[in-house]
Amino acid sequence: MQPPETMDETLQALRRSLDQMARWGCRGFDCSEQALAVLARWSHQSTAAASHKAPAADKGPTAETLEAVRTDLGDCTRCRLSEHRTRLVFGEGAAQADLVFVGEGPGGDEDRSGRPFVGPAGQLLTKIIESMHLTRDQVYIGNIVKCRPPGNRLPEADEIGACLPFLTRQISAIQPKVVCALGACAAQTLLDTGTPISRLRGRFHDANGLKVMPTFHPSYLLRHPEHKRAVWEDMKKIMALLRIPL
Ligand code: SF4
Repeated sequence: MQPPETMDETLQALRRSLDQMARWGCRGFDCSEQALAVLARWSHQSTAAASHKAPAADKGPTAETLEAVRTDLGDCTRCRLSEHRTRLVFGEGAAQADLVFVGEGPGGDEDRSGRPFVGPAGQLLTKIIESMHLTRDQVYIGNIVKCRPPGNRLPEADEIGACLPFLTRQISAIQPKVVCALGACAAQTLLDTGTPISRLRGRFHDANGLKVMPTFHPSYLLRHPEHKRAVWEDMKKIMALLRIPL
């Protein structure tokens, strides 16, 4: 096997080794989920810095792949959400999407199907994507946690801490130009803030080199359709960034 050549490759290899050693029960040094999350953050920063140097039309190779992330995730039992799930919802879409949508976690329909955003809120998200002259196949859709919280409650901090490194790695593999955070949980997690979604939405934020546009969650729009206009304004900003004509 070739030794790692770049910082990102080195971090990926280190994280995989620590993750494996943690599963073997190794003790005596820090191979906790928190340490893996730090490595994932360094890796993302390294990848983001590299992608900023690359021409926009060619994202360039990345040491990370969605397949490797899925393999490492396995039949995950890293948090208690595994106990109640029917199916783990990894995420789906284009492996090199310019736009990634991130929600909070799977609901009942997603838990049964293993696919993200397929229930009523998902159908509204599909309409939003199509309004942007895109298809679901052209974007990537994932969640902060990959297993359904019981009763559709919000994911708790330790559950997010266990699952987020995998989403971070997915985003590192995809190298999108922008991430659209759907709802307060996704936006506050990605931006590491407690600021309400109503004050976060409507403008791009920088998250360690990642451009993030927070907006309202489609399930919130189903209950409050009067906010659809605000979401469309946010989508128009993303379209402008991606140079998609209205
Ligand atoms: S929510 Fe994430 S960390 Fe928790 S069991 Fe599911 S895949 Fe694993």
